Amino acid sequence: MKLSSMLLNTLKEDPRDAEVPSHRLMLRAGMIKRLASGIYSYLPYGLKALRRVENIVRDEMNRAGSQEVLLPGVQPAELWKESGRWDLYGKELLRFKDRKGAEFCLGPTHEEVITDLARREVTSYKDLPLILYQIQTKFRDEIRPRFGIMRAREFIMKDAYSFDRDDASAEKSYEIMFNTYERIFTRCGLDFKAVEADTGSIGGSFSHEFMVLADTGEDMILSCSTCKYAANIEKAESLRPEKMAFGQAPKGRPEKVHTPGVRTISQVSEFLGVRPENLVKTMVYNTDKGPIAAMVRGDHDVNEAKLRNLLGLAWLELADDETVLKVTGAPVGFAGPVGLEVNVVADFTLLDSGPYVTGANDKDYHLTGVWLGRDARINTIGDIRFTLPGEPCPKCKKGVLEGIRGIEVGHVFKLGLKYSKAMNAVFTDVDGEVKPMVMGCYGIGVGRTVAAAIEQNHDEAGIAFPVSIAPYPFLVLPVDVKQGPVMDTASRIYKDLCSSGIDVILDDRDERPGVKFKDADLIGVPYRITVGKKSLDKGIVEVKERSTGRVKTIAPDKVTDYLRTVLKRT
Ligand code: ATP
Ligand code: MG
Repeated sequence: MKLSSMLLNTLKEDPRDAEVPSHRLMLRAGMIKRLASGIYSYLPYGLKALRRVENIVRDEMNRAGSQEVLLPGVQPAELWKESGRWDLYGKELLRFKDRKGAEFCLGPTHEEVITDLARREVTSYKDLPLILYQIQTKFRDEIRPRFGIMRAREFIMKDAYSFDRDDASAEKSYEIMFNTYERIFTRCGLDFKAVEADTGSIGGSFSHEFMVLADTGEDMILSCSTCKYAANIEKAESLRPEKMAFGQAPKGRPEKVHTPGVRTISQVSEFLGVRPENLVKTMVYNTDKGPIAAMVRGDHDVNEAKLRNLLGLAWLELADDETVLKVTGAPVGFAGPVGLEVNVVADFTLLDSGPYVTGANDKDYHLTGVWLGRDARINTIGDIRFTLPGEPCPKCKKGVLEGIRGIEVGHVFKLGLKYSKAMNAVFTDVDGEVKPMVMGCYGIGVGRTVAAAIEQNHDEAGIAFPVSIAPYPFLVLPVDVKQGPVMDTASRIYKDLCSSGIDVILDDRDERPGVKFKDADLIGVPYRITVGKKSLDKGIVEVKERSTGRVKTIAPDKVTDYLRTVLKRT
């Protein structure tokens, strides 16, 4: 492609509102353009990168024996009602009606549609195992779209779904997909880690996220310094105490103290001169099983995903002021476990010691000298808080958990029977018995993978694409297009590469060399072949590697062979 005729408008200035390097650089390199909040167009240079990732994904999915389909983006509400998610999915689901008043949504994911397909197409154990995938546009009305295509509302995902006869076979499919993801992200040139993850609104029994390691990542990972344990902080477990019981408490009763207007942990801590770890934080939640109270130490935070899983809840949300008043008899800020009527859940860190300061369920009052085992009725004790970096590893118990940031580019779930049971996706097994299929689902954010690659591969001057996903691996740059021999040599190299089917840019613009070099660095072409008069007089051209800055000088007629070997290496 000749740069003079390419739709590629680079920006000299950093765009406002771009918080992370990948967003800033994708805009500056003319890869994407914002249309509305979280909604982007891919321009030719950006689309090329997206397609490169798609090709790797497709190649590896096909190699794994998965078959490609293309499902509709518009999905009838009935399917979502069958699975029970029409009511559970919330505001991320974009819903609308057709002219006849029938309800639809724009697919944020495709479990319902694929399960419907499978129940109609698969009848016998002979049709299993089956893994289907698609690369398609998803819509999620994200509460906070940001970072460009990294957290968009409309985005491209590869989603795959597996169907198996039994658990053992489903686990094999999961393993095949897990290994396929490792191959995909390795081929994309990414530094990544697979971590244990929560199953969220998709549901299911276990899952892993593939995290690209980057300081700008939205996710926090806890990774053991000694063993292989690594988990998203949403899921990461705390080391269990040896005994799940309260210790011996002294005789006595809690004391009620007046704490006017003192509500938050730091206010209570300061007012009473007590360290936060000696306070109990009591949070009231509304859930599908009614209101509950969750308790953690004052210096800890409730992990809602862990709380939801422990109690087997379909949903939970922090209670509104009215519910708090109804449940505790006091406004927000004075809740405590003593005398509560609702289901009370305590984090197991609270087994450690007493006495604690808690809210008194009375406006402007707290209790001191509370021994939970003695003074409160606690229904459940479990792991319901966010584990923190620096804590001991819950698996090997020897290592320390380190906190690292990551960008979630892929997610694999073992779904089990959740959708097949709800939607009656059954098959006839070898013994004639009719059984629900065991399912798994597997997503990759294709656009997010491009952005994550840039997040990991850039410098002050711009992007430094890994060769495998670069829109173009090579850029031929004649320093002065008006000098006949320079332009002739550059054109020759360009044509030679083109004729071997290699994607290459020729910067044939009549621009100052500085402008051309700057653009080449910004758009991140992995190898720049510079043809200048001085070096040409010495019988050489320069090949510069963008990621390392290394320059190799080479005779013009040897250069295309050399570049072909470079491509073969990657
Ligand atoms: P997140 O926690 O980042 O919102 P998720 O858990 O909702 O992600 P999944 O439902 O597992 O995501 O979707 C599969 C993949 O799709 C994710 O791993 C991610 O790469 C991509 N993805 C999800 N949401 C977005 C989005 N808003 N914009 C771009 N890519 C996304
Ligand atoms: Mg999400």
